[in-house]
Amino acid sequence: MSEVKTEEKVVKKYRKPSKKKVCAFCVAGEKTIDYKDVAKIRKYVTEKGKILPRRQTGVCSYHQRELANAIKRARNMALLPYIGD
Ligand SMILES: [Zn+2]
Repeated sequence: MSEVKTEEKVVKKYRKPSKKKVCAFCVAGEKTIDYKDVAKIRKYVTEKGKILPRRQTGVCSYHQRELANAIKRARNMALLPYIGD
């Protein structure tokens, strides 16, 4: 009696070969980020008004900083929600 044990293949979640995310602002050649450009900034903020981490957005450190400033300014101007935690 030969019982063939089927090996359970643990299929790891296939991760796409990391497409290197390039900073959108660098690509656009923007040095500063306009806080009035809410449509653009919105993409980098969660519904709760938190700033998305760099890993998710692919923004470079320089622009992440600029972005954070822009977001804070936008919040001040009531262009973005101020909730967060
Ligand atoms: Zn950049």
